[in-house]
Amino acid sequence: MYNNLWENVLQSLSQSVETHRFETWIKPLLLHEQSDPTLLSLSAPNQYMVDFLSQHFSSLILSAARSFSPDIKTVSIVPRPSSSAVEMTPVIHEPMAVHRDLPPQPAINSRYIFDSFVVGSGNEFAKSAALAVAQAPGKTKFNPLLIYGGVGLGKTHLIQAIGNHVATQNTDSKVNYITSEEFYLSFIDAIKNNNIKKFTDRFRSSDLLLMDDVQFFSGKESTQEEFFFIFNTLHQNGKQIVLTSDLPPSSLKGLQDRLISRFQWGLTVDIQPPNLETRVAILKKKAEEGNLNIPQNVLYHIAETVSSNVRQLEGVVLRLLAYSSIMKNDITIDLVRDVLRGTAKKEKSRISIDNVIEKVSEYFSIPADNIREKNRRKEVAHARQVAMYIAKTVTPFSLKTIGLGFGGRDHSTVIHSVTQIEEMKKTDISLSRDIEFIINKVESL
Ligand code: ADP
Ligand code: MG
Repeated sequence: MYNNLWENVLQSLSQSVETHRFETWIKPLLLHEQSDPTLLSLSAPNQYMVDFLSQHFSSLILSAARSFSPDIKTVSIVPRPSSSAVEMTPVIHEPMAVHRDLPPQPAINSRYIFDSFVVGSGNEFAKSAALAVAQAPGKTKFNPLLIYGGVGLGKTHLIQAIGNHVATQNTDSKVNYITSEEFYLSFIDAIKNNNIKKFTDRFRSSDLLLMDDVQFFSGKESTQEEFFFIFNTLHQNGKQIVLTSDLPPSSLKGLQDRLISRFQWGLTVDIQPPNLETRVAILKKKAEEGNLNIPQNVLYHIAETVSSNVRQLEGVVLRLLAYSSIMKNDITIDLVRDVLRGTAKKEKSRISIDNVIEKVSEYFSIPADNIREKNRRKEVAHARQVAMYIAKTVTPFSLKTIGLGFGGRDHSTVIHSVTQIEEMKKTDISLSRDIEFIINKVESL
């Protein structure tokens, strides 16, 4: 009867708890046989998990259990010795790996230094703040320093430039660079392998912690929890923390408020897309680095055509470099037109309507199917119109094909959406920003 109860509880929790949290925290729990009908007695693989579960999940587990068996008054969770895991359940097949090593830290790119970072009006404040922090880590008021901006605008370059600078100035200082995605993955790994302590020690001992793309923490509660503790320890000890994100902290969805408020303790700076002059300067620098001679008028032509982000500018230079080394030809404006046209077409046909729907769905937190189906709720209808507009902008498909991609709608519906969004964009700056942001996401797939 008890096992049956636990199966029901698991089933119900699997629906109310986000999948990865369920897998990480709930699934490893085992039920103990017991005589007391008011007590639900569970065990977890280690003390760390017991603490975490007691803090975050025990009331949830209790209420789920009571919905099946109202007599239950208490949930108890204790650590289990790893050997007994086998007798208690046939469910855990994996042997408990003991203190396996942590995955290696990602390396910092030695090309990402301040000297190779071209400064323009969109990024000069971010660059100055980064340099100030690099020259006196933990000693300025900019702790943490948070740099935010769109895709391909130089956030990773700047945060790693800080790392490179500090590492060369002071070879003793411990610099840790990691993306939040890698942090999350190695955290999950550490839980599985029972080496949480090693994992947290690695970060708690940093003199400089560089955390790239914190937006990825969104919705990952337990990872945020862990990062929160690391952050506090470092901050209290006067160690420098630098963060990057694709949105300002106040717009980061799915992040705990206390984390967002800590992110704003120091200094928040943004990076804006480079203007024409800066784009020309960046192209010049990249061409020089590659020993490539690009005439001034050609530089301007590229800078005018490719305006969205620096990564794309770099891509054009790389292609020109490849071309000139094979063909041994001068770089002319006609050649550049060919190269640019080729990429524009390729980039467009690479993106599917589903890619667009997926990103719009993520952005508005609306299930993709609702966007495709006949759902008239206002937010859904708005997300759908935005998605149609973006599909028209970034894919090469006809209105008819786009209509088909949205649950078989008519092409006139698509036209209506596109014109409506175009109208709204004229007066609604935040809508324009939403759209620009989603397009960036879609194009960097
Ligand atoms: P993000 O992390 O913001 O998406 P990256 O830092 O990865 O962007 O930048 C993309 C590419 O563009 C990198 O190769 C980087 O060196 C280059 N880049 C970006 N901004 C600049 C700049 N101001 N000067 C020189 N290179 C830049
Ligand atoms: Mg980056």
